[in-house]
Amino acid sequence: MTSFISNHKPKLHNLPTSIFTIMSKLAAEHNAINISQGFPDFDADPVLVELVAEAMRSGYNQYAPMAGIYSFREAICHKIEALYGASYHPESEVTVTSGATEAIYSSISAFVSTGEEVIVIKPAYDCYEPAILANGGIPVFVQLNNKDFKMDWANFRSKITPKTRMVIINTPHNPSGTIFSKEDILQLQDALKGTNIILLSDEAYEHIVFDGLSHESVAKYPELVSRSIICASFGKTFHTTGWKMGYCVAPKALMQEIQKIHEFNVFSVSHPMQRALTTYLKTPDNYLSLNSFFQKKRDLFLDGIKGSRFLYKPSQGTYFQLLDYSQITDEGDVALAKRLTVEHGVASIPISVFNEDLLDDKILRFCFAKKDETLEKAVTILSRL
Ligand code: GLN
Repeated sequence: MTSFISNHKPKLHNLPTSIFTIMSKLAAEHNAINISQGFPDFDADPVLVELVAEAMRSGYNQYAPMAGIYSFREAICHKIEALYGASYHPESEVTVTSGATEAIYSSISAFVSTGEEVIVIKPAYDCYEPAILANGGIPVFVQLNNKDFKMDWANFRSKITPKTRMVIINTPHNPSGTIFSKEDILQLQDALKGTNIILLSDEAYEHIVFDGLSHESVAKYPELVSRSIICASFGKTFHTTGWKMGYCVAPKALMQEIQKIHEFNVFSVSHPMQRALTTYLKTPDNYLSLNSFFQKKRDLFLDGIKGSRFLYKPSQGTYFQLLDYSQITDEGDVALAKRLTVEHGVASIPISVFNEDLLDDKILRFCFAKKDETLEKAVTILSRL
């Protein structure tokens, strides 16, 4: 079908299909074990599901308030204060969003205008750049090295210009599975001192940190809080990625602007899920137990990989593990990820698509948010390569 739009250049005309769509589709077509896209293949807690059903039966089936129901916003603020010390006002400093992705899009949209620069750390999760470009912004990349994915803060500072409007960080980091240390956050704080730069902190994996390490939320750093928007995800925390429930918090002046985008994009998000999550958040163990739950899965995956020819550093956080396959083949990572899916029946995510200029360091990302038997089957195949 021809379209009247064919003579026009759409804003995102160069944007490729997301790697998650590509790999999950390929996995389905070839009946492969899908440890590519990050989502659990096990169910959410039945208690949580029942709370949603109960909220629906109780008639909470119409629009929630634009920013979210008050009791839910209150529960979110209490949790943040208890864990990280920052005290956000439930009335004016939190918005419940359609996943962390909508929080990120609304935040970028509210503040980034044509010609303004946004610093993005590469490899980067794939939703930042399209949001920047759709708003006329210019992504400025800081590429991490492929050995330990540690930030070179001098390099970071060299990217700041008078046009820098925003910096986006992500800790725990998808796809590398590394986390920012306290020292990293202090370096960041120092680099931003004296500027008007807004910090957007994607903390979707805040409750998935291993080996006794701690999640350094920006909410622990009062000097940063005043310039920051923190985005979080209930999908990652409660095994409910399909519910698309998340939120962002920020000082009032920033939140007012974010809500202008949120209101006229989605207006408000699922009411019964908000009711259910409000109750579920009253039991801190529901999220505090996540570290050990996923550490067991990471360890199960790595135990199986130990004798293989893959090289790795254990993931510090998120539910992703990187494996370096340079001892096995010199194929490109996209080609290998596709071949492993089609020929060996295991789907993964190639890292080059998240890097500056598609830099290919021969690394694949594997999601271990899967049933133990799924992981066992996958490592049996991978360790034969
Ligand atoms: N966050 C998930 C991942 O990194 C994917 C989400 C998506 O498919 N857009 O795998």
